[in-house]
Amino acid sequence: MVSDRGRQKPAPGNPELDFPNYLQPAWTCDAPTDTETALMHRYPHDEHGSGWFVGCRGEARQHTDATLRSTTLYELAVTRPVIIGYLALPEHCSIALGAGTPEVTRRDERLSFAPESLLGRMFG
Ligand SMILES: [Zn+2]
Repeated sequence: MVSDRGRQKPAPGNPELDFPNYLQPAWTCDAPTDTETALMHRYPHDEHGSGWFVGCRGEARQHTDATLRSTTLYELAVTRPVIIGYLALPEHCSIALGAGTPEVTRRDERLSFAPESLLGRMFG
């Protein structure tokens, strides 16, 4: 029998990571793929979906039923490897990737990188 006694609860503001499976579906848009720029948002999801939207930043076009399609995280990771480091972030997180420091928010709160983390060293 496995005991979780001694297992640390996540600290407030440090939610548990939620690792998806690469075959899970995700939403994307029909904008031409820019490998360095993307908007990522994780919606609440069940065990079948990843909850992820990964597409353009929506500045030049509307995201509607006509411009969105379902794909797999695998396809998205192949076309935009830059997203891979963020895929375990939990629901309600958004990441704006482009030139410069990625903007990571959870709900409306801006999150910062731990100074000693990889991202902290890259963009701190
Ligand atoms: Zn788009």
